[in-house]
Amino acid sequence: MKPILHAVEASGAAAPNVPYYAPAGNECALFELAWRRRLPLLLKGPTGCGKTRFVAHMAARLGLPLHTVACHDDLSAADLTGRYLLKGGDTVWTDGPLTRAVREGGICYLDEIVEARKDVAVVLHPLTDDRRILPLERTAEELSAPQSFMLVVSYNPGYQSLLKALKPSTRQRFVAIAFDFLPSEQEIAVVAAESGLPAERVRPLVALAARLRVLKGHDLEEGVSTRLVVYAAGLIAAGLRPAEAVLAAMIEPLTDEPDVKAALVEVAKAVV
Ligand code: ADP
Repeated sequence: MKPILHAVEASGAAAPNVPYYAPAGNECALFELAWRRRLPLLLKGPTGCGKTRFVAHMAARLGLPLHTVACHDDLSAADLTGRYLLKGGDTVWTDGPLTRAVREGGICYLDEIVEARKDVAVVLHPLTDDRRILPLERTAEELSAPQSFMLVVSYNPGYQSLLKALKPSTRQRFVAIAFDFLPSEQEIAVVAAESGLPAERVRPLVALAARLRVLKGHDLEEGVSTRLVVYAAGLIAAGLRPAEAVLAAMIEPLTDEPDVKAALVEVAKAVV
């Protein structure tokens, strides 16, 4: 199959309008193939490990509009498809972001899909099989997704509870890519590029992140994200003392327990 992304190097440092993304493996090629084969894509992995950046990067590389929806526990099917709204005395149909994406084409990215209400699955099912349709009962329309349309969803398996699991009948409609934090050297390069802090000063922050990630499931619900390491590095680059930056960006956001926090500060002292 002929690649359509010749202009883009493996490093992800492409044209200036393409958001920077450092790939961990073959996910860019996989994304492109899924898009060309009209397959929906599921990205799973911990928070702040690059899923959203990856989607933004690929949308720009493929020259597609990106419609992003951050799902939350109140998000219903109508929030995605649309509803009649009162406008100057009239009721006017207003497309939701999913309907807009199906009409206009491009990538529709539903971030943290398991957070959304259960009725969302009903609208996603006919869109994620070979019918690729979005039935709109309220307007008596049945929209066919154009060639360029692709549905991408993400979720964090770490947050899953029994109530918030993705049902097999839904997840088995997607090609899936597992994300995780990058290996140290790559994470150092990403954090340095994102924050402007030189790589040798980023190194201890990434070492600390690795130490703290081991505590996930014991003292911590979630390991420290690359996003937080970027924040810490950015604060240091802006002039804050490393210990203060680490406390504010890599320890306080992780826990409210005084004992756990004190233990994390001790770990940080030994590393940074
Ligand atoms: P997620 O969607 O997984 O919660 P994001 O995509 O928002 O996480 O990533 C958080 C931040 O981490 C990004 O804004 C970026 O600064 C950085 N980041 C993480 N992984 C990468 C990567 N592979 N390439 C470039 N930046 C990354």
